[in-house]
Amino acid sequence: MRRSPTGSACVALNDSKTLINPANEREICVVEGYSVAETDAAIDRAQQAFSTWREVTPGDRARLLRRFASAVDGDIENLARIEVENSGHTVGNARWEAGNVRDVLDFAAGMPERLHGKQIPVAGGIDVTFAEPLGVVGVIAPWNFPMPIASWGFAPALAAGNTVVLKPAELTPLTALRLQELAREAGIPEGVFQVLPGKGSIVGERFVTHPAVRKIVFTGSTEVGKRIMAGCAEQVKRVTLELGGKSANIVFADSDLDAAATAAPMGAFDNAGQDCCARSRILVQRNVFDRFLERLEPAVRNVRVGDPTNAENEMGPLISSEHRDRVAGYVGDVAFTGSSPDGPGYWYPPTVVLAGRNDRIAQEEVFGPVVAVLPFDDEADAISLANATDYGLSGSIWTSDVGRALRVARGVESGNLSVNSHSSVRYWTPFGGFRQSGLGRELGPDAALAFTETKNVFIAT
Ligand code: NAP
Repeated sequence: MRRSPTGSACVALNDSKTLINPANEREICVVEGYSVAETDAAIDRAQQAFSTWREVTPGDRARLLRRFASAVDGDIENLARIEVENSGHTVGNARWEAGNVRDVLDFAAGMPERLHGKQIPVAGGIDVTFAEPLGVVGVIAPWNFPMPIASWGFAPALAAGNTVVLKPAELTPLTALRLQELAREAGIPEGVFQVLPGKGSIVGERFVTHPAVRKIVFTGSTEVGKRIMAGCAEQVKRVTLELGGKSANIVFADSDLDAAATAAPMGAFDNAGQDCCARSRILVQRNVFDRFLERLEPAVRNVRVGDPTNAENEMGPLISSEHRDRVAGYVGDVAFTGSSPDGPGYWYPPTVVLAGRNDRIAQEEVFGPVVAVLPFDDEADAISLANATDYGLSGSIWTSDVGRALRVARGVESGNLSVNSHSSVRYWTPFGGFRQSGLGRELGPDAALAFTETKNVFIAT
């Protein structure tokens, strides 16, 4: 059986996954994964639903999305509780994540009535464009932010008149399954939004190969993203990729060093560092390097790591024991660490390492609470060092010189930068990566356009 996150039944069937609470290693339940045949059947239902969903008037589609948003709003505490148990997120973060899904749905509810085309002056008639929906959209989500990342794909896709099949990560399917229930309660018609738990190698790959799936929205590792892009090329399938990062937090000598050092830990360790936007490299101007580290050390020791159900805590465990081993494998020259609980749970303390420019830890995504600190000489060196990885997702610039802030922001090859803060994501501003951090953009004013084809029609008069 498929376990309802609101119910209690847990029964193992074939290709099932036992979910473990990462904070205490207790078994939560077993979720059965979809087979290829079940995936095909769900895609068929989505294709059938598309023919009617695309005809729902813009006003009615907007109303249904608003009702979906309001169902999520009424379930925030429950969704947060599920995410804390399944993913080990702190309850404060999990509440924000559920609220983000509500907000993304509300924002998307404003899109159907605004998907207007253009009227272009031509000789001998009129010329108009239409934003046509694509059909069935396959959303493949990672385990690190199961709720928001899924909604950044499915909400604008639904708004634009597409139907959606969503594959959550095998480790973290429970909030997605609950969102499917909430969608049905809100009146989203059957087949329009379906959640298919299961393996990437089965369900995810079938999204890529099935001809009725017209677009893939993939968020995950760069390695898998490249394979998905290659697979999509077979059918010239549309694809949005949100991939890994190794973002730089650049601290200039003219910045407020206290503020920069106080903010740096959570710029790197939020969600236990399992954040594609984590500022996992701190680049510090050489003449203030030691002064910055003196300030960073107490800030790191003060990060409250522990039971994620306790709203006082800022950092929970890692997602799995395998992932903890992987993170530990990166750690070399430790400068200092914070603390983490003993006993059961996949705990890892906030860790600061001193790195050389060519070290693996300065180049590769660790995806854990480990930050590498490196010195730089001047503005040009800072930009060149920030750009010295294959990635380009986010980053921060700390300086009191507004001209420098803008010059460096323009020089760093990255999709989402913030000055004197570590903010990355707002649902109404565009989000996505340069270079090997991704392809395409999510969120922001044009989010729905990524789920349409432009059709041009000339009418002779
Ligand atoms: P992952 O291993 O690439 O998996 C992501 C999703 O893809 C999972 O649902 C996975 O299924 C599925 N998948 C795996 N192999 C597949 C295949 N061959 N075909 C189709 N789907 C497949 O990534 P992850 O470890 O879950 O997530 C961490 C990564 O995501 C990090 O690199 C992080 O930077 C990135 N990320 C990027 C963003 C962004 O917006 N740029 C946001 C968040 C995370 P399973 O459940 O079977 O693994």
